[in-house]
Amino acid sequence: MTDFRAERLKNMEQAMLTCTMCGFCKSVCPSYKEAVWDTRAARGRVIISYGLVQGDLEPDEDVIEALYTCTTCKDCSRRCPSNVDVVRLVEEARRDLVASGYMLSKHEEIVNNIKECGNPYGETLSAPETLGMQPHPAKIAYFAGCTATYRNTSTAKAALSIFRKLEEDFTVLDEICCGSVMGRIGCSDEELMQQMQHNVDHIVSLGVGTLVLSCAGCYRMFKEEYPQHVNVPFQVLHMSEYLASKDLQMRPCEKRIAYHDPCHLGRHSGVYDAPREVIKMIPGASLVELPHNREQSLCCGGGGGVRSAYPEAAKRMAEARMREVDADLLVTACPFCVTNLRSAELGTKVMDLTDLVEALL
Ligand code: SF4
Ligand code: SF4
Repeated sequence: MTDFRAERLKNMEQAMLTCTMCGFCKSVCPSYKEAVWDTRAARGRVIISYGLVQGDLEPDEDVIEALYTCTTCKDCSRRCPSNVDVVRLVEEARRDLVASGYMLSKHEEIVNNIKECGNPYGETLSAPETLGMQPHPAKIAYFAGCTATYRNTSTAKAALSIFRKLEEDFTVLDEICCGSVMGRIGCSDEELMQQMQHNVDHIVSLGVGTLVLSCAGCYRMFKEEYPQHVNVPFQVLHMSEYLASKDLQMRPCEKRIAYHDPCHLGRHSGVYDAPREVIKMIPGASLVELPHNREQSLCCGGGGGVRSAYPEAAKRMAEARMREVDADLLVTACPFCVTNLRSAELGTKVMDLTDLVEALL
């Protein structure tokens, strides 16, 4: 067995001791709701982390499962009366695990794919080859992200079509994975630096003034995490913010449209209004709020590396979210949320906001 070193976790001992074990986090934690087992709730993860720091626990299969079924949705931190930063705690535990040689085989595959191909799916074509356009100097650059480039390709195509319809001066990018997935599953900042620097240098070399992103996870990276490590000398907008700033002349759509807040766009980055403003611009459409919305939104279940390592758990969380939907259409603003919510196969059509706007423009 590899020796576990709690190098980063030990700096969070005070946060662990602040937890009063009140259990309020259990009322919101999506992974607890799907497993109904205390080690799958925020407070269970706090106790496990404390056990690791004290040397009372070994990182066995159960410990690793408890720490890697957290979607990093941040709802526990919102609900916690003691302000325990559970997401940071879980991510520090994961960093210690990875640094000590523990990595789930699915995650190892993802990391190897990113290092070899620049994307977690192991696709060998570059983003410009896939999107059918070469990068060139422009005012706006579109960062498609790996999921819209290689899996939910309709969203990347829709974004490019919107830019053309709005007659923007835009370019695609020779992008590589933004680093979100590696960061979430426990790789160190040092490992992510190369990706961050490559992407930023490339964008700067094209004289770009505004970067527009489809994916909530990529957006959080560029908006919140990149600036902590590299200079980001351009405006960063999520596609929903870009669209909300435009006078969109859309065709009518007489539908009741519910909106799902992606955790990385909402709770992690504070973007709640822009996607709702875009839906309200659609003639004839009515915006339906889900029972859990905005700051209290329920996670789709796919984030934090959960979908790749524990697909059944991710699917059950998606089903819980989809059971809340009473509308003609569920719209969200992240291709990765779209993928996981669709896995629930519960009838209501799920669509990315970008695809919907393109279809109505
Ligand atoms: S809500 Fe906060 S203090 Fe209460 S058990 Fe959960 S992590 Fe601990
Ligand atoms: S971040 Fe989300 S999944 Fe993780 S412990 Fe908190 S509420 Fe649960």
